[in-house]
Amino acid sequence: MPARYEADLHIHTLLSPCAEIEMIPPLIIERAVEVGLDLIAISDHNSAENVRAVMEAAKGSPLKVLPGIECESVEGVHVLCLFDKADDAESMQELVYASLPNLPNQAEKLGEQMVVTTDAEFVKYCERLLLASTELPIDEIVSEAEARSGIAIPAHVDRRGYGLYGVLGFIPEGVNLPAVEISRRSTEQKARQQHPDLEGRAVITSSDAHMLADIGSCRTVFQLEHRSVQEIKLAFERLDGRCVEECRTVGGGYSSADSES
Ligand SMILES: [Zn+2]
Ligand SMILES: [Zn+2]
Repeated sequence: MPARYEADLHIHTLLSPCAEIEMIPPLIIERAVEVGLDLIAISDHNSAENVRAVMEAAKGSPLKVLPGIECESVEGVHVLCLFDKADDAESMQELVYASLPNLPNQAEKLGEQMVVTTDAEFVKYCERLLLASTELPIDEIVSEAEARSGIAIPAHVDRRGYGLYGVLGFIPEGVNLPAVEISRRSTEQKARQQHPDLEGRAVITSSDAHMLADIGSCRTVFQLEHRSVQEIKLAFERLDGRCVEECRTVGGGYSSADSES
């Protein structure tokens, strides 16, 4: 029997230069549990170097953490890639790193990119520029995520910057995109009215939290047998009682600078 799970599938850590320094594994888990989430995904910009630490930090808590990456396509579109296994997220990261410009991060301008342990001890700075587009077209990101048993979901599609509709204006044909993520600025109803090509696709929403206070502020309620990417795929297809039940915005305050990241 599927059960109800509240999910926020788009959360950054302090590896993302635009995230606050408090976005460390123990505090992310603490906050997610506090606000009643059952499932989260860690999705830093073009990197998965902190996913293991957060997954490990969730052990012994009621929370399930999925490893992910927010990839930036060559078109300048952000795509959430979610996996069940850290190995698969890290393999995706290798591909992404090979497709990013080989430039150093501009820490003074963009912010530091920190890799930490489960207990939030400093390991190293990720020295490469993460806030950049890869050479990978959207369809390739989708097929490469699928090849690693993952799923690709265009992020905050309604945003002018980095959103699929904002950048391209439509969902490209022939690309397997069973779901899209909308930002807090839109609602499922509004998005479906504006974009008829959402017909037959699921719509989710997530916080895109760069600050602790924002975790869970936008969330998606799923009906799943258990918490995994494979189950989320079935929910997008509405198979055997699994489904996306509701997109929800909780509370009014959104503290992150309303950035386009
Ligand atoms: Zn993001
Ligand atoms: Zn983004």
